[in-house]
Amino acid sequence: MSDVKLVVCHECDLICHEVSLHVGEAACCPRCHARLFHRNRSTLDQTLALAFTTAILFFIMNTFPLMSLHLQQNTRETSLFGAALAMWDREMHVLCLLVILTTIVAPALQIGIEIYILAYIKWGTRIQTTSLPMMILQKLRPWSMVEVFMLGLLVSLVKLKDLADIIVGPAFWSCAGLIVVSAIMGGMLTPRNVWMWSQERKSHVNC
Ligand SMILES: [Zn+2]
Repeated sequence: MSDVKLVVCHECDLICHEVSLHVGEAACCPRCHARLFHRNRSTLDQTLALAFTTAILFFIMNTFPLMSLHLQQNTRETSLFGAALAMWDREMHVLCLLVILTTIVAPALQIGIEIYILAYIKWGTRIQTTSLPMMILQKLRPWSMVEVFMLGLLVSLVKLKDLADIIVGPAFWSCAGLIVVSAIMGGMLTPRNVWMWSQERKSHVNC
């Protein structure tokens, strides 16, 4: 009885028996035809490697200059945190705190929790403890808005290009890379995949 696996359709609440899929296949609800789940090619090691990549890109994004402005013999460099502090100096306190929250604090927590979950499945022994971090991660993801910041940055670059010479720094390219890698990570680090990797690890430990 415990071997029977059930899955609930998120559209019509129909309870279905889980079927085993080949890589690339998807299971659909027999009543409303909504997509229940699919099996992708991502493995735990690939996802863990991508998680470490996001951590490196995030470190570069927050350590190196975002851009340099050359205007009338003057050169000014700014970092992500420096840009946020400049908002604080101009009395835009709420905006400054929002930028810090959505581009530094939330992504840092997100990356940390992602690495914790994956490392725990890979090397940990008490596999059940990934459920709480996974729930926190699901709540945290909407607050991570690096792509919105990037969009604002691109708009400001277009507006400033006629006024000054602009050289984009390593943090800019890291920010762009982080958006791409995070999007791929979002598709790989799903609750279903975490559950599947946990079960595989569990059966491997019990063998
Ligand atoms: Zn359905």
